[in-house]
Amino acid sequence: DPRIEGIASTIRVVPDFPKPGIMFQDITTLLLDPKAFKNTVDLFVERYTGKDITVVAGIEARGFIFGPPIALAIGAKFVPLRKPRKLPGEVISEEYVLEYGTDCLQMHIGAVQPGDRALVVDDLIATGGTLCAAIKLLERAGAEVVECACVIELPELKGRERLNGKPLYILVESG
Ligand code: IMP
Repeated sequence: DPRIEGIASTIRVVPDFPKPGIMFQDITTLLLDPKAFKNTVDLFVERYTGKDITVVAGIEARGFIFGPPIALAIGAKFVPLRKPRKLPGEVISEEYVLEYGTDCLQMHIGAVQPGDRALVVDDLIATGGTLCAAIKLLERAGAEVVECACVIELPELKGRERLNGKPLYILVESG
């Protein structure tokens, strides 16, 4: 798709952020380009329209940027998957392992029901640990995870292999 190249060209790579050796993929520069931002959302909306997706689950924080416009366009509810102690209601939690230590995603109980068909959205997949935790949360609530969608994949980190066969759709490969 000719739109992909334009999207890729707006993503800024910041060396040594947040620590030495990391090449940080910065999507805030994509957001500054209304055409690239619209094309990004449109590509996802075109893919997921008519697929009976009932819930778009966005991962904090950048899944909160791309998820809601997709949810609105395809007529699905939006559910935020948040870092610990941010959600006020009763939650279920899923811990996952980072390079140093662990992190956790939480989801409100009752936000997702058995029979829901879910799309998980984030800006980027690296090791896949975050998406794996998101899939587990949704499946524990009884949803079927139809696909995960990210703007960027770092294929060298083989995060795709951690998704237990769940399909992953990405627009741009990097790194
Ligand atoms: P993973 O769990 O290792 O796949 O890391 C993915 C999570 O870390 C996502 O929520 C991303 O937003 C974030 N992340 C990791 N590396 C980058 C990056 O280079 N740019 C933006 N976000 C990143």
